[in-house]
Amino acid sequence: MTEEIEKLRDMIAGSNNIVFFGGAGVSTESGIPDFRSVDGLYNQKYKYPPEQILSASFFRKYPEEFYEFYRDKLVIGDVKPNRAHLRLAELEKEGRLRAVVTQNIDGLHQSAGSRNVLELHGTIHRFYCVSCGEEMPEAEANKSTGVPHCAKCGGIVRPDVVLYEESLNDKVISEAVRYINEADMLIIGGTSLNVYPAAGLINYYRGKKLVLINKQPTPYDRHANLVINEKIGEVFAQV
Ligand code: ZN
Repeated sequence: MTEEIEKLRDMIAGSNNIVFFGGAGVSTESGIPDFRSVDGLYNQKYKYPPEQILSASFFRKYPEEFYEFYRDKLVIGDVKPNRAHLRLAELEKEGRLRAVVTQNIDGLHQSAGSRNVLELHGTIHRFYCVSCGEEMPEAEANKSTGVPHCAKCGGIVRPDVVLYEESLNDKVISEAVRYINEADMLIIGGTSLNVYPAAGLINYYRGKKLVLINKQPTPYDRHANLVINEKIGEVFAQV
């Protein structure tokens, strides 16, 4: 065990109000591609770049093309939580961790057993009608071909994910701010901290146990109390 891992263990052992903030890197270790990385979905076969297809205006204009891309790329098959997800769920059960704040939409924290998960960008596991708000079960939305329509009013059904051009849910943001503000330890993992709102949220942390776990260095490394440049799953397997 390295010195850093040992330090992380000690910090966790002395905490009972940990908040974890995670980015795409937490999911990539489960095999889910990162939209924002060059190795991700940018260099793919579609006519438009992913950030255009996954925008609110594109969805309004071309819902069929949106769903074609969505089903091809965002509906995940047999993906399993990795050791980071699993250990975080355990830490919650042990009464050490209060909340997971995530930028991912895949629901892997919940599959691992985490209960208090704040999904900043929504989830691929919920669908609703844009006209009347009626929810459609995930299995139904995913098995339909083309654009799914509401059983109640015939309106277009969309996934409950935050699209480009849309703002984040205020309630989720303020909950995340509250948890981070009150946390005795903040662990940030799998994010380069370049993407809004990650960088802004860190500023609400007031404690002295700020841990950054990321394969590459981040602009916030010098503010952290502990920096670990390793794969997040491998780190959590050891603590
Ligand atoms: Zn409806």
